[in-house]
Amino acid sequence: MGMFCFQCEQTAKGAGCTAGGVCGKSVPTALAQDELTAAMVNLASAVLKKGATKRTDELVVDGLFTTITNVNFDEATVKKLADEVKAETKKLGGEETFKPESLFHGDTDATSLRSTLIFGMRGMAAYAHHARVLGKIDKDVNAWFYKGLNACAQNHTAEEWLNLIMEFGGVNLKCMALLDAANTGAYGTPEPIQVTTYIEPGPFIVISGHDLHDLELLLKQTEGKGINIYTHGEMLPAHAYPAFKKYKHLKGNFGTAWQNQQKEFDKIPGPVLFTTNCIMLVKPSYADRIFTTSVVRFPGMVHIDDKKDFAPVIKKALELGGYKETQKMTGINGGSVLTTGFARGTVMSAAGKVIDAVKSGALKHIFLVGGCDGAKPGRNYYTEFVKQTPKNTVVLTLACGKYRFNDLDLGTLGGLPRIMDMGQCNDAYSAIEVAVALSKAFNVGINELPLTLVLSWYEQKAVCVLLTLLSLGLKNIYLGPTLPAFLSPNVLKILVEKFDIKLISTPEKDLKAMLG
Ligand code: SF4
Repeated sequence: MGMFCFQCEQTAKGAGCTAGGVCGKSVPTALAQDELTAAMVNLASAVLKKGATKRTDELVVDGLFTTITNVNFDEATVKKLADEVKAETKKLGGEETFKPESLFHGDTDATSLRSTLIFGMRGMAAYAHHARVLGKIDKDVNAWFYKGLNACAQNHTAEEWLNLIMEFGGVNLKCMALLDAANTGAYGTPEPIQVTTYIEPGPFIVISGHDLHDLELLLKQTEGKGINIYTHGEMLPAHAYPAFKKYKHLKGNFGTAWQNQQKEFDKIPGPVLFTTNCIMLVKPSYADRIFTTSVVRFPGMVHIDDKKDFAPVIKKALELGGYKETQKMTGINGGSVLTTGFARGTVMSAAGKVIDAVKSGALKHIFLVGGCDGAKPGRNYYTEFVKQTPKNTVVLTLACGKYRFNDLDLGTLGGLPRIMDMGQCNDAYSAIEVAVALSKAFNVGINELPLTLVLSWYEQKAVCVLLTLLSLGLKNIYLGPTLPAFLSPNVLKILVEKFDIKLISTPEKDLKAMLG
C-alpha cells in the first residue's frame, strides 16, 4: 500500500498526501511512520496483557511524538524506533497482528474517528515528553496511551469512538496540567515581559521548538562565552519564566512563525537548534548551521544526542560570528516588541480587575485567538480579526498563531494590554483555568461567559487541545483556516450538532455574530 497522510492542515488538495508530503516528508519516511504507529498499537496490546515498563512508556511517548508533522524527516531513525518497539512487543510475548494499512484506510467514518484519536494522542505525547524531561510523569496519562492505541485495533460504533475521544480529551487536560506543573515548578510562574526582535552584533544561537529544558542547558553551556541566545517560534514565551531572566545573554526573539524559516534563516550567520517541531525542508544556504536534538531529525543535519553536549552548536556560533551590525528585524506588521508572559498566574492575579471590568461593561468580550500558524493563504484572517476587535474587548492568545498579530500595539484596557500572550500551545491549560475561574466568579457555565474561542490549527497538538476543549463541553468554537481533512462529513456533522463548531468566514461577519 502506498503513502497516505492527512494529519495536518496543509495536506495535499485538502484531502491527503499520497506522493510525498506537502511538508516535504518523503514516501519512505511516511511509510516508516505508519509502520512505527502500527508497531505501537501492537505494543499497547501486549502491554495491556503483561504490564507497562519504563521502557515501553518511553517508546510509546517518543514514538508518537516522532510522527507529528515537521518533527522527523529521517526514514532511518523512524525505522530504528519501529524495530525497537517491535523488539519490546516480542519481549512481552506480543505479535505484529495489527498492520500499518489498517491505520488510515477502510470505512470512512471509522477511519475518521480512529485518525482523530491517533492524531490527538500524537499531540499529547509531545506534552508528556516535555513533562518527562523535567521529571514529571503521570501514570494515568501513560496508561491511556496504551488504552487509546489498543482501541485503534478494535471495531467500535461511532458512539463508542466519540466516548473514547472525549475521554482522551479529559486525559489530555491532565497531561497539560502536568506540563504546566513541570514548567512552572522548574522555572517559576511566567511574568509579563517585553521581548525585542532586534538581533545584536556578534555570535548568536537561535533556539526553536518548545523544550524549555534544552533552552536551560544551552543557556548554561553558553554563559560567559560571548554568545547571545535568541528564541524562535514557540520558544518565545520562555523569556517570561523567572529562572531564565538571570541569563543576560538570552537577548530576544529571532524572526516570526515556523513557516517563514526558509526565508528568515537564509544565509543566517549563526546556528539554529531545533528542539521540537516545526523544522521545514532545510535549504542549502543554511544547511551547515542547522542542529537537531531530542526527537527532531533531518537527514544530514548534526544531531545532539541525549547527553546534551551543545559544543558543536557553540563552535558553529563562534565560527560564523553573527551580524556585524544590529539587525532591525520586525514582526509581520512591522512591530519590534513582542509582549509575553500572561499565563494563568498573571491573569488570575488580575482576576478582580477583569471581573469588575466585565460587570461595569468596560470589558465587553474576551477573545481567545490562538493555535498554530501555517503556510497556506487565508491566515491573514487572524491578523485582521484581531485588528478589528473593538476597543472594549481583549484578546488572549497562545501558540505560534500569535505571530500574525503579536507585534501590534492595540493599547490597554483597565491597565492590561489588549493583546495578552499566555504562552505555548500547551498553555491552553492556562486559558482553560482562567475560563473556569471566570465561570465560577460569575456563577455561570463556561459557554455563558462573554468569551469566544477563535482557533487556528495546523498540526496534531492543536488537535489534542481542541479535543480537550470539546471534552469540557465548550461550544461555538470558530476553527480555521480550513477544517481537518480527517473529519469525514458524518463525523463533522456530529461535531457541529453537538458542539456548534464553526468554520471561520470573514472577520467582519464573525465578529458581528460573536458580539451579537
Ligand atoms: Fe501531508 Fe501534513 Fe502528512 Fe506532511 S504531515 S505528509 S503535509 S498531511
